[in-house]
Amino acid sequence: MDSFSNSYAEARGKFLAAAEARGLGIQSVIHPLRGPENEALATDVVRLGATTAKRTLYVTTGVHGVEGYYGSGVIVQWLRDGWMPPADIKVILVHACNPHGFAWGRRFTEENVDLNRNFWPLNQVPETNAAYAEIQHLVEYSGVGADSLAYCQQQLAEYLQKNGAANFKIALSGGQSQSSQGLFFTGTEPTWARHTYEQLLRQHTQGSEHVFYMDLHTGLGPRGYADFLHQYATGSTELNNLVSYIGERVLGDERDEATAQGLEGTTISCFARHAKVLGYSLLGGAIECGTTPLDHTLEALLQETALQRHGCDDDQLAAQIRQQLKDVFYVNEDDWKQQVFEQTCDIRQGAINYLNEQ
Ligand SMILES: [Zn+2]
Repeated sequence: MDSFSNSYAEARGKFLAAAEARGLGIQSVIHPLRGPENEALATDVVRLGATTAKRTLYVTTGVHGVEGYYGSGVIVQWLRDGWMPPADIKVILVHACNPHGFAWGRRFTEENVDLNRNFWPLNQVPETNAAYAEIQHLVEYSGVGADSLAYCQQQLAEYLQKNGAANFKIALSGGQSQSSQGLFFTGTEPTWARHTYEQLLRQHTQGSEHVFYMDLHTGLGPRGYADFLHQYATGSTELNNLVSYIGERVLGDERDEATAQGLEGTTISCFARHAKVLGYSLLGGAIECGTTPLDHTLEALLQETALQRHGCDDDQLAAQIRQQLKDVFYVNEDDWKQQVFEQTCDIRQGAINYLNEQ
């Protein structure tokens, strides 16, 4: 699928060109830093449908930088296909919510923040994650290279065995506010990407009565399969609606590694807050397209953050580590692209059906 790209610059070029070819207006929020090819970085927005429509489908991509290859490929194809929503629904497509991470091949922002842990309530910096403190030395003092990685993995496996999968998950990926050098850092202030995300969300959903949102991610679940993650309670109207419009891919905590339950500071909580303030009904969540087994992903993340912290004299090894990170979040193969594209289209159709009936 030619709508997918191999660099941020290429992805942005395709998105802008596809929008221009259809005569659509483009809103660009320019990032203060530049990319590796000295290219401009930006979060770009295109609207399909009338600005006055009271029902809105809101689609965000690249919250986790390097995961943006997937979301970009999908929304570029939608633009190229000439797809339009029904007359009284507008669709907002947000390209590269974390353009710095996307361009530099990182999951995190320029502040090393996990944007999907950065949306905590303002003036309430998250408390220290005590469980992370127990593994921090392993995660952060490991250097670049196979020996260091093997030691770290073995120690983490022991921690997992001793404390169980649920506690391991909280420790590792629950979000932590104590270390800007570590993994899944919440940040201690709102990042540029958060400010931009919220500003765009306010601007484009204000005046809506009903909003459905899809935040596009990769890296969890079986290869080529799109899960729909949410934080709704079992038995709630929202969850019942999601299941009836989106179907069986709506995932609670059936599969332990792929769930958004209990996480704080996510885009899901950001949308929920805005819905309350702006007074519209809200349904939605995060799409997770599976790429590779989770231990590969963790290995790639450990090595890439070690590279970020310590640097590496061996250029070849450094390049290998960066490539590995890209590979665990983006399967550059046609069958995968086709699968995730089609499933995302199915979810889009479910979202449109839902909005149509509101
Ligand atoms: Zn993600």
